[in-house]
Amino acid sequence: MTSELAKDITVQVEKSRKIYLVSACLVGLACRYNGKHKEDKVVRSILQEAKLIPVCPEQVGGLPTPRSPAEIVNGSGEDVLKNQARVVNVKGEDVTEFFIKGAFQVLEMARMTGCEGAILKEKSPSCGVRKIYDGSFNGVLRKGKGVTAALLSKERIEVVSENDIRKTYIRD
Ligand code: SF4
Repeated sequence: MTSELAKDITVQVEKSRKIYLVSACLVGLACRYNGKHKEDKVVRSILQEAKLIPVCPEQVGGLPTPRSPAEIVNGSGEDVLKNQARVVNVKGEDVTEFFIKGAFQVLEMARMTGCEGAILKEKSPSCGVRKIYDGSFNGVLRKGKGVTAALLSKERIEVVSENDIRKTYIRD
């Protein structure tokens, strides 16, 4: 006998809406380095119209929550992927391998789900789309992507930030 759940899932899959990955902290999941979330009301409201699949690259890369904040030193996410920059936490520990593993896990999810793109949290060393912190831990920003955003872009999966979404909503 087919279960009701299996039938429901089949129906949902059949009337599938477009799928996007989203930084889990933007939809209210408490996965940030400080154990908190960064819910964005506009991004969260999109859940009504599109399928958003929440993912936190730092968690799937193997880092705990809470964790020490980290920044990319001497470069951007693109440079980390080329082995030309490192991700270091505030204690001075090199956490690059966790960030790279997380980025590849998210890439795998993107491919598995056939997503149309990703909405990622600006300024994060993993998720930042246009801006990241400069590695000084002084709150200074520089241009560049986080490691996951850089990998998805390199693999032709489009990424936008919560700021891009807000601007578009305001314009519309
Ligand atoms: S890695 Fe991305 S999803 Fe996870 S807490 Fe940081 S910004 Fe949010």
